[in-house]
Amino acid sequence: MKKFIIIFFLIYSCVAIAQKDNSRRNGTVILTFDDACESHYNIVAPILKQYGFGATFFVCEFPDGNFGDTTKYLSWHQIKQLSEMGFEIGNHTWHHTNINSISVDSLSHELSYIENKCKSLGIPKPVNFAYPAYVIDSAKLPVLYSHGYLTARIGGDRAYNPSNDNPMFVPSFTIKDNNSNYFYHAIAEAAANKITILTIHGVPDELHPWVNTPVDVFKRYMKYLYDHHYRVVAMRDVQKAYAFMPNESRDFFSAEIKLDTVSKTIINKLSMVILLSIWVINPESAI
Ligand SMILES: [Zn+2]
Repeated sequence: MKKFIIIFFLIYSCVAIAQKDNSRRNGTVILTFDDACESHYNIVAPILKQYGFGATFFVCEFPDGNFGDTTKYLSWHQIKQLSEMGFEIGNHTWHHTNINSISVDSLSHELSYIENKCKSLGIPKPVNFAYPAYVIDSAKLPVLYSHGYLTARIGGDRAYNPSNDNPMFVPSFTIKDNNSNYFYHAIAEAAANKITILTIHGVPDELHPWVNTPVDVFKRYMKYLYDHHYRVVAMRDVQKAYAFMPNESRDFFSAEIKLDTVSKTIINKLSMVILLSIWVINPESAI
């Protein structure tokens, strides 16, 4: 009897703690910034630090003839500084190349260039990838796996559901212009164990006006996330939950292994959902 009382008390405590944290947090939002725009260092990073937000910067050397012009694109020195500020550096290929238009070897070369640059500067090896122009190619997945990538981000205009979505096709919302309704819709999706991932380009983005986000609009969005208690993190923070999964669940999560029985699938999926749910709901949890 005593045992049952203790177990009941422990379960009650866990639920109470989860509910308490849930009441303080609205959900999880992952910020991703593409194309190594100069404004990421001079405008975006200080605002993120002001609020204590995490973010992933998917970098490349944009092949429009302007890379190297530090008034338009980040220098590698600035990318290193972003890393030292605590932000994640992700891989967006060397030349922002649509991966369906190049060979397996060329993709490997495109990935290696960014990885080697990071290594030479003491930046942690990128473990997350973003498809340039959201162009996917399933035939290239073995290349991403062989380089150790854990997730690869696409567009899709919907929230990421870790229990259902293939981590090699992680969906995101593309922020641009002053479309506040789209932003608030995207953020509202960050609930019920789903994660809203925002893809943002330059703030502002004069070279690519079709994905421009005005500075005042960006400031308003970040203040909204802060004022409404969203947990705002980088892509790599998803791997904190991933790292604590049992091996079989991890295999399922990475969608590399064909499971042989239905029951095994259900058990793995349930354990994954529980672990990720704890992480999404409880911002203070160790995982
Ligand atoms: Zn891009």
